[in-house]
Parts: sequence; structure tokens; C-alpha cells
Amino acid sequence: MRGAATRRGLVCVAVGATAMALGAVSTTPTSRAVDRPGPRAAEALREQRAVARLAARGLPIFCGGGRANEVALTFDDGPTPLTPRLLAALRRSSQPPTPATFFLIGRSAVTYRAHARAEAALGAVGAHTLTHSTLTKLATAAARREIAEGKRSVERAIGAPVRLFRPPGGHRSPAVDRLVAEQSLLSVLYTVDPRDWARPDAGSIAAAVVSDRRLVPGAIVVLHEFHLPTIEAVPAIVRSLRRRGLQLVSVPRLLADDPPTLAEQREDARADSCVHLYRRLRARAESRLGDSYGLVRAGPPSPGYVVWVTPARRAAAERPPLLRACQAAARNPSSAARIPAASRPCAARCCEPVP
Ligand SMILES: [Zn+2]
Repeated sequence: MRGAATRRGLVCVAVGATAMALGAVSTTPTSRAVDRPGPRAAEALREQRAVARLAARGLPIFCGGGRANEVALTFDDGPTPLTPRLLAALRRSSQPPTPATFFLIGRSAVTYRAHARAEAALGAVGAHTLTHSTLTKLATAAARREIAEGKRSVERAIGAPVRLFRPPGGHRSPAVDRLVAEQSLLSVLYTVDPRDWARPDAGSIAAAVVSDRRLVPGAIVVLHEFHLPTIEAVPAIVRSLRRRGLQLVSVPRLLADDPPTLAEQREDARADSCVHLYRRLRARAESRLGDSYGLVRAGPPSPGYVVWVTPARRAAAERPPLLRACQAAARNPSSAARIPAASRPCAARCCEPVP
């Protein structure tokens, strides 16, 4: 639900080349922990340290570093009466169950305490303020109370310390960041926002997630557990991501395996977006070119732009239609089918987001 999420363009590479609750950060079911306490405890400790290290910087995170092959699904605004259905969907979607991260509203965690505990047993839990207030609109004392009391309520509900936090609506500012850091929390924003709460059915939610060009290694996806179509979309989302070879992990696991650097965190915080990930993707795509390829820039649909690359010998002949097709594909992914057949492999696979 953040405007920044829409301010991006695309890189299209058309070449032969393809283009908390750290007490509750378990990524495996509790029953397995009894069988194998050693490795699970070591993994939990590794995740705790990663989150603490990032939280100490006093900056939010928008994504991982993008150097591993992991993606995190997150669910906001719970617990709700629908929580058991969400957890059942996550359990059914893979074996072991798909780990997720849940950002709970303090008051709801008190009301649905058993649901909150069940979420902590399945994945990681973070706080999402006491009453889901927009922190940037509150006076400092009120915002501090929302953050601190939300954290305490979730901790009481799940019986474990909470170290992750997400500001409602993704609305943050340097002042809000400081209040979050006061509570030793790490602010976790997101990379992919399909606005699931505004979509009427599971099919369009799943399609919006899996077709989002920002869904790359390191991405954090925001979804909402009060919306039944979102829960119904979970199996298709999980299936599609796994088919693409992406591993679904909790946020603490993502940050332990693939943390952003301090410089990347600073850059992202300034832009209020995961710009370091998109910049690196663009650089990687362009570095693959070499002398035998021509580079064409279309746009700019500011502030992003579209890049279309073809072998140099074809570039002159194909440039105008390719440009038009690429621009259309940027506006509407399904139009990629109109790209000339010889270059079509890129249309489906090689569009990558840039800031
Ligand atoms: Zn929310």
C-alpha cells in the first residue's frame, strides 16, 4: 500500500541469453524441534543475531541483499478469524509447511491469542502497532505508544520477544524510524505489494504477485490475512515461486542468509524503496551485453525506463517494432506476445525492474 511501489520501470533484455519475534522465528514445526533441538536452536540464534545486527543500524529494510535465491511472504493485520485457514493453506502448500512472517496488530493479538501463538509456531512474528494507526500522522508521544504497546501486546500473546516491526500502510519517516529503533525493533517494509486487499478474487491476487517484475531473489511480499481471496491465492503463489526455483523463507531467515549491506540499507531508506536490488539487476543485465549486442533505451516513463537489447546485426532492422512492443509489454505484460517471434523468449523471462 505504498505509492513508492509504483514508481518503477523495467529492463528488458532481448538476447539469446536468458535473461522476533525471534523467540518465535521457527521455520519448522514445533514437533520437529523436539526431535532435533540442536540445529533448530542454532538456526534460531543465527536469525536472531542477523535481525539484531540490522536493527542496531536504526534503518528499515525493504528486501534482502539479492545474493541468495530466497523470497519472503509476509501477512499483515492479523490475527483474524481467518488465521486458521491461512495457516492450513501454508501447511498444505508444501512439506515442511511454507514458512511465513506475520505482522500482528497488538489489539488483535490479544483478542485472538491462540491464533497468534499458532502463527509464531509456524513462522516468524512481528508487531504492526497497537491499533494500526498511521504513525506519520501522530504526534511523537502517540506514535511511540502505538509502537511500544503494540510490541508488548504481541509479546504477551505469543509468549516470546518481538524484534520485527512493520509500520501500518508502509508509512515511515526518519522520525518514525528512530521511534522503532528505540524499541530495539527492525522495521521491515516490502518489495512487492499486489494490493491484495483491493482485489476481488484469488486468481487476480496470485497473478499480481507472480507477474510482478520486482519478485526477484531478496524480495519481500506483503499480503493481508483479513482477506479471504488472499488466503485462497496462497497455494498458487507458493507453487509458482517454487517452480521458478525461489525458496520461500521467513524474514529472519532471509536476513540471516542474504542481508543488505549498510550502504544498501541507507540507499533504500533514502529512496523509501528497494532500489539497491533493482540497480544491481539492471547492472547485471547490462553487463551481459558485450560488443555483439546493441542497446536501445526507450522511454523514459520517468523515473524508470525500458531497455531493450538485441543482437547488433538485428538492432537496426528491429528497433522500432521492438521498442513499441517493449513499451507495450512494460505497460501490460500480456502484450509481450506481440513481440516479434525471434525475440520472444525475452518477453516472458527477461523483463527486470529498475528504480
Ligand atoms: Zn496493516
